[in-house]
Amino acid sequence: MTFGHDPLHELSLTQNIVDLAIEYAAREKAVKVLSITLEIGALSGVVAEAVEFAFDVCSKGTLAEGANLEIRHVSGRGRCLDCQTETEIETLTHLCPHCGSLALETVQGQEMKFTEMEID
Ligand SMILES: [Zn+2]
Repeated sequence: MTFGHDPLHELSLTQNIVDLAIEYAAREKAVKVLSITLEIGALSGVVAEAVEFAFDVCSKGTLAEGANLEIRHVSGRGRCLDCQTETEIETLTHLCPHCGSLALETVQGQEMKFTEMEID
């Protein structure tokens, strides 16, 4: 896994979310998407500012143009595979604070999720 930052990552993730939102709004015969709420995990590698920028680009000229984008940050959590302790983690290479093991399994914070939206 690499940690280098690729702005196309946010662009394609955001495009998927805008597509989903528009599809849903069209199905509900809405005229406008008012707001979209996203959760961004601390371990996802997704940069909120890049998502905001990508959202403006992807939503232009669609039902989602001008929608209020709300971003919630979700902390990272890992579980130690050796001693089962759960702990808050900020990187994917974190030592278990209990036993020092490197065998942590990520249980939260590795993704960006589309959680809510409001339409009109
Ligand atoms: Zn442990």
